[in-house]
Amino acid sequence: MIPDRIVLRLGELTLKGRNRHRFEKQVMEQVKRVLRPFPSIAYRKEFGRIVLLTGGADVEALKAPLRKVFGITSFSPVYTSALEPETIERMALQVMQTLPDVPNTFKVNVRRANKNFPIDSQEMNRRVGGHVLRAFPDLKVDVRQPEVELKVELREEEALIYCTREEGAGGFPVGSNGKAMLMLSGGIDSPVAGYLAMRQGLRLEAVHFHSYPFTSERSQQKVKDLADKLSAYTGSIKLHMVPFTDVQTKIHQVYNKNLLITLLRRAMMRIAGKLAVTAEAGAIVTGESLGQVASQTLGSMNAIGQVVQMPLIRPLVCMDKQSIIRIAESIDTYTLSILPYEDCCTLFLPPSPSTNPNVNVVESIERSMPWLESELDEAVRRTETVWIGNDRNKTSDPFASLF
Ligand code: ATP
Ligand code: MG
Repeated sequence: MIPDRIVLRLGELTLKGRNRHRFEKQVMEQVKRVLRPFPSIAYRKEFGRIVLLTGGADVEALKAPLRKVFGITSFSPVYTSALEPETIERMALQVMQTLPDVPNTFKVNVRRANKNFPIDSQEMNRRVGGHVLRAFPDLKVDVRQPEVELKVELREEEALIYCTREEGAGGFPVGSNGKAMLMLSGGIDSPVAGYLAMRQGLRLEAVHFHSYPFTSERSQQKVKDLADKLSAYTGSIKLHMVPFTDVQTKIHQVYNKNLLITLLRRAMMRIAGKLAVTAEAGAIVTGESLGQVASQTLGSMNAIGQVVQMPLIRPLVCMDKQSIIRIAESIDTYTLSILPYEDCCTLFLPPSPSTNPNVNVVESIERSMPWLESELDEAVRRTETVWIGNDRNKTSDPFASLF
């Protein structure tokens, strides 16, 4: 016996008011995108959920792509039965028999949406429960905390029966909360920050600073591969590759002491800000986490963050490294991130970077670099932009139709 439908539950708590319709539409678009390789599927929108009629598609194969759709809180493979009490009893038992392990406790939950069904839900609960109990002698009913809840929905046309529920990606549909520019390094943290920002409904563009030829082509490829992992959640990502070598070298020629990192980070942040404005992004996302390194103290973050007007989103700021690594593993970026390619930031490292940069001093050093602004503009001008991901051949914004 194989399930012929999948019920997708959308974020119930966030589905309030006028946004619900838009939320459902955005999730539906994403579901259709990830399931594009399965043309037999038909899609139905219902209140607070989406039902997939699999049309013979392998349900197991659908699970991994569905877990990449933000806005789905959980989903269940579902079996369809004719609206006859005996058939429902028999199928409910068969559904229980598909479980890999026999549970110790269960309960039946019948919902009678179809008021023409001749038996009320209490009586159906008893009938289905009794039928299952007769087949599993050790099984007990526990109405409070059952290991398995066997659900039967009596609808107009058919009964839906299911007893498993799998966790979805949760969060908000991609783009439902606007757009942001992710500063994407080749490290562990920023891809995780990007994932969390997307899960919160932000559509991302990404910017990466490289110091070619001091850093290799391979380190750029690594960043593209990381962006590709993130794009699995959205279809595609626009990635801006900024040549940072000239800016870096020129700043280093004028100043190479303990505030160098702050100066370089401010230069990066300014460029990210310029690209964000062009992209009409409302925020910049970074992978900074408080206390990790010298540039991630409160003082440093403040000195760096001051150069842009828009909000800076730091999803990892209060997370410890182990939790960050766990997410990196779950989104499959960890093994890429730990590949040992150079990063532009390691090019010129001062012996003891300041952990509490004095902004006045930093600003006065910058005033001694009158060419700085035009150098940053030149880096923006020479930036190469590539589409990464499934829809990478598209030249236009694949999300434009959603807004
Ligand atoms: P990550 O693991 O994301 O590289 P990190 O712990 O190495 O972070 P830093 O090197 O201090 O921390 O970088 C802090 C943040 O600055 C990064 O998370 C990223 O958002 C941004 N960043 C650093 N280097 C680059 C780069 N070459 N291109 C784009 N953004 C960068
Ligand atoms: Mg890094």
